[in-house]
Amino acid sequence: MSKTNKKQDALDYHSNGRPGKIQVLPTKPTNTQRDLSLAYSPGVAEPCLRIAERKEDVYKYTAKGNLVAVISNGTAVLGLGDIGPEAGKPVMEGKGLLFKIFADIDVFDLELDTKNVDEFVAIVKALQPTFGGVNLEDIKAPECFEIERRLKEEMNIPVMHDDQHGTAIISAAALINACELQKKKLDKVKIVVNGAGAAAISCSRLYESLGARKENIVMLDRSGVIRADRLNLDRLKSEFATTRNLHTLEEAMKDADVFIGLSSANTLSAEALDTMAKNPIVFAMANPDPEISYELATKTRKDVIMATGRSDYPNQVNNVLGFPYIFRGALDVRATAINEEMKRAAVIAIAELAKKPVPEAVNMAYNTKNLKFGKDYIIPKPNDPRLITAVSPAVARAAIESGVAGKAITDWDAYSEELRR
Ligand code: NAP
Ligand code: MG
Repeated sequence: MSKTNKKQDALDYHSNGRPGKIQVLPTKPTNTQRDLSLAYSPGVAEPCLRIAERKEDVYKYTAKGNLVAVISNGTAVLGLGDIGPEAGKPVMEGKGLLFKIFADIDVFDLELDTKNVDEFVAIVKALQPTFGGVNLEDIKAPECFEIERRLKEEMNIPVMHDDQHGTAIISAAALINACELQKKKLDKVKIVVNGAGAAAISCSRLYESLGARKENIVMLDRSGVIRADRLNLDRLKSEFATTRNLHTLEEAMKDADVFIGLSSANTLSAEALDTMAKNPIVFAMANPDPEISYELATKTRKDVIMATGRSDYPNQVNNVLGFPYIFRGALDVRATAINEEMKRAAVIAIAELAKKPVPEAVNMAYNTKNLKFGKDYIIPKPNDPRLITAVSPAVARAAIESGVAGKAITDWDAYSEELRR
């Protein structure tokens, strides 16, 4: 299909019929006069009074417990940059669609017309009565860090900025499995992180919390290696500043075990890749075009394990493996947060799932016969129906064990059965 056709297809998909991708549907009978008098006045006053007496009952009588806000100000939409809140709305609706089809979570997408951190935080905080959780989306760095930190502190429903943690969780699962396959240890590998933005910082933080050593990480931005002696380093970047005498990507890549690309297209050369240690791991995740193409990387190094953000190559690092199921697990135990324990549980669950035999339906969807744990299959595929029963219970359990759950699950088999439906 030609490029113009594809573009027109995408526009038609969104504009045909009822514009957009989302609608709201009632969940109760509405056929009779009686139904309506229960749904609205006078019947509706009864649940109102119950909730007024006991705030927790809002979870019993309203949709709050299954409702997530996808909130953006449109300042870092996909790889398109600051295109504004209206222009970001198709993405937020799309996220709503994914939450619904993969985890049966309802979403209101909210596009806010503000770039002011205080105002953004105040608005989201005031929305707390409505929602069971908040997915922050496509907000530019560095504001995204402060917005998330403050909201986590000040709200008692789970808040997650998916561009940071989703990517971190999925790529961490991929990294754990790639290390296993390449016979490397996470606490020993030398990691080069190209990019020092929202995704790079949160990925590096999570890798560290899973065992990678900060002293083994070298991070770069547009000005080269982030060294401790560099002038005017901001606080976030200085978190990963190295004291080693390195300046360029080429220098950093020599004998490195892992390359994490969260920067921009074609920034890694074949020559630099060639100087990496034996059995290298390359996650070139810049979208839509990676730091080095799949073809060039696999041609340059036969021993490489390669992942990208793209669906047309093996090992796609795709956030959809995480956020629907992480929120599902968090909502189901009424967690007050999505904490480190829950994120780590999601990482392990996703990594472990990749090692299990792949269902026929998944093979068929990808037109392959035998997807099997190995170099070209280090993480599950997005349409794997087992993700929900692998990830959500793991996250729910971690919430309970780390003390942030407001509700217990005792019958885990019944819970899994419910998730399968
Ligand atoms: P961001 O906050 O804008 O950060 C981009 C970072 O990359 C900045 O630190 C920037 O350096 C650095 N950078 C840009 N060009 C560079 C170059 N030529 N050499 C070295 N560093 C360079 O963006 P982000 O949200 O972190 O996303 C970064 C990239 O990762 C995007 O391409 C995005 O599409 C991709 N991504 C992929 C996935 C996925 O595959 N699942 C998920 C998230 C993000 P300065 O600080 O000097 O400007
Ligand atoms: Mg995003």
